[in-house]
Amino acid sequence: MRSQYLRGSGRKMYFGRIAVIFFIISISEAKSVAKSLNKCQTLLSDDLINEIASYKDVKEEIFRYVTEGDFKSKTYDELAKFVDKFGARPSGSQVLEDSIDYMIQITKDEDINDIVTEELEVPHWIREQEKITMLEPRSKHIAVLGLGKSVSTPPEGITAEVIVFSNFDQLAETPRQDIDGKIVLFDPIFTTYAETVVYRSQGAVKAAEKGATASLVRSIAPFSINTPHTGSQYYSDSVPKIPTAAITLEDADLIRRFYDRGEKVVLNIKMTSSYETKISRNTIIDYKGIENPEKLVIVSGHIDSWDVGQGAMDDGGGLFISWAAPVILKRLNLRPKRTIRSIFWTAEELGLIGAYDYEERHRNESNNINFIMESDEGTFSPLGLVVAGNEEARCIIAEILKLFESINASTLVESDSPGSDIAVIVKTGIPGASLHNANEKYFWFHHTEGDTMNVESPEELDLCAAFWTAVSYIIADISSDIPR
Ligand SMILES: [Zn+2]
Repeated sequence: MRSQYLRGSGRKMYFGRIAVIFFIISISEAKSVAKSLNKCQTLLSDDLINEIASYKDVKEEIFRYVTEGDFKSKTYDELAKFVDKFGARPSGSQVLEDSIDYMIQITKDEDINDIVTEELEVPHWIREQEKITMLEPRSKHIAVLGLGKSVSTPPEGITAEVIVFSNFDQLAETPRQDIDGKIVLFDPIFTTYAETVVYRSQGAVKAAEKGATASLVRSIAPFSINTPHTGSQYYSDSVPKIPTAAITLEDADLIRRFYDRGEKVVLNIKMTSSYETKISRNTIIDYKGIENPEKLVIVSGHIDSWDVGQGAMDDGGGLFISWAAPVILKRLNLRPKRTIRSIFWTAEELGLIGAYDYEERHRNESNNINFIMESDEGTFSPLGLVVAGNEEARCIIAEILKLFESINASTLVESDSPGSDIAVIVKTGIPGASLHNANEKYFWFHHTEGDTMNVESPEELDLCAAFWTAVSYIIADISSDIPR
């Protein structure tokens, strides 16, 4: 999950053109659909409302099977097997490709065989040596994680004084000669991910425009036990590419205190990495509908991860509940009218590369996407959905969510750009939703070594899998398409 991407253009690779997509939702900023419920009563027919309510029994059958029956703990157990076997699955790596093959095999083992993969070029950035040492005002090791696609420093490293900015306005107001040749540290205090992540994604370009020799960012996180958080960043072809990395909240705040006291802070930064392109695959699994197999309700998550941690939370959980949806329906012999398509996106972390490829490749059949869903913001207790679509579409989803009041998962959060990968498709006018869940601690672990199975809970994954399956089944089966 990220909040903002700058995507480039090339024939196959997308690393230069700027197109900004906002997609992290701050719950505090989101409006509840409750206010417009009166409008929903006029938009939805009584027949449709009654029809949706009639899915209560099917929903309960799915929940019983997943939370008490044969599927209990299955999502967690399968996720754990996967994460333990493969660990981190960075874009372009062989382990990512092996993990894709594995997902295909466990799907076939469930006798679901309608599976295709689509090849595309992806970035393969490999982190090598990374070391930051504070030389003044005292000697100290600074924990570091380079940001995605960062260039290397010279072998001896970069030794320079640090200048600290808490926002881009301060940088803009400071004369170039005060910044030239220095290391810029951006230390915004985490408010929401959407607000603060720009200092990670754009910091290197903004600092380089002012002549900085390297840029650092206070990790984009609300909490830390001296843990740096990596993430994507986007160079511009019009300014020099400078090395860029995240440091911990603790070290950033230490440097800030020295700086505010007027003490000169000097760092030595040594970073090396390599970068090339490789072939990876999006994975597409169809559980064919019985009446309108050409119409699609998509559930999805990304299979790649950062190179640190294990990608259990980001996005193993989303991957596995999206794998579970057709598997659970098949096991229960529930076949909806429309097709349920599971997509495992590749190379999300380095710029939604798989999603852009899918959107371009399937553009001429995009009319067939009835609704698209993604889980990439945690699979903690489900609370509802973050929904993009017109008023009537949101009213139908709100009506469906009423079926989940008993597990407190009936909240509809409005957003024009939910999710990460699916934002690429939703922005073309296709209605969609991301999983709204109790993810207050998501950014504690996000893009760190701490993203492991210990973050996941069997009970919460069961609830998410059951919710994801039931919601996608109902949308795929009701008489009404989701309107655009
Ligand atoms: Zn993610």
